[in-house]
Amino acid sequence: MSNVPVAVVTGSNKGIGFAIVQALCKQFPGDVYVTARDPGHGQEAVVKLQKEGLRALFHQLDIDDLQSIRALRDFLKEKYGGLNVLVNNAGIAFKVRDTTPFAIQAEVTLKTNFFGTKNVCTELLPLMKPYGKVVNVSSMASISALSGCSQELQQKFRSNTITEDELVELMKKFVEDTKKSVHEKEGWPNTAYGVSKIGVTVLSRIQARILNETRKGDHILLNACCPGWVRTDMAGPKATKSPDEGAETPVYLALLPSDADGPHGQFVSDKTVRTW
Ligand code: NAP
Repeated sequence: MSNVPVAVVTGSNKGIGFAIVQALCKQFPGDVYVTARDPGHGQEAVVKLQKEGLRALFHQLDIDDLQSIRALRDFLKEKYGGLNVLVNNAGIAFKVRDTTPFAIQAEVTLKTNFFGTKNVCTELLPLMKPYGKVVNVSSMASISALSGCSQELQQKFRSNTITEDELVELMKKFVEDTKKSVHEKEGWPNTAYGVSKIGVTVLSRIQARILNETRKGDHILLNACCPGWVRTDMAGPKATKSPDEGAETPVYLALLPSDADGPHGQFVSDKTVRTW
């Protein structure tokens, strides 16, 4: 088993995830893994980094596929005995002009952004080593979607006692409500992406709380963040930040010094803790 520290970035064959790997290759003292659902795309990313003089490794990971998540978990356990840095970056968004029915968009978006991210956390968080860092890439869209929720939903999503099971039930209810076309009546905003990212931000708050309760002495720091509006396939060429600039806040959170006791359980953008 290797004692080398190890960092994993989900969805890192392109976009912000790729830029996060690039920065970690320069700054993280250990092995850095590109992961991608398509091995061909993942290997291409590794070769691209190699040409820049950077050494990254590759492991397949489709966050929609529990078997794939568990294969990565077993690999990390066996090769490294755990994990030091996990960046949950993989995500999807339908384009504004996409005509796919809203209920399908809701189901597909929540499947990856919320349920996929949650499954990765369920399988990989127990592997986190002391002083580990977990970064869940959410979005400012979670804050605007929260303000578009009914008072009752806002109160639930801001609660300091909401459980992961309760959050899962709420995310499932959103998808069911869109199928019945009653989501607005039920207090939801009209954005599947925004609701999926509410899920990611609230999940991060819950997970940080659980770490406090169960592994306080391990000094693991876990946060949600927004990379900003970044020029990638998701956001398009008009966005204001380059992928490198978008990677700055996630990388800052992934490399917080070992004597830092925060941020933890926060939503962070531009390296600044935001009010949820
Ligand atoms: P992107 O260029 O579209 O890249 C998304 C990455 O996620 C790709 O590598 C994609 O893989 C991967 N992915 C999607 N579904 C996956 C799955 N089931 N399993 C594993 N990987 C999967 O988007 P981006 O702009 O870099 O976005 C990265 C993250 O930042 C996302 O969580 C996004 O919501 C968030 N974000 C972006 C912006 C922005 O302005 N760009 C703003 C706020 C938040 P494939 O190549 O196989 O599709």
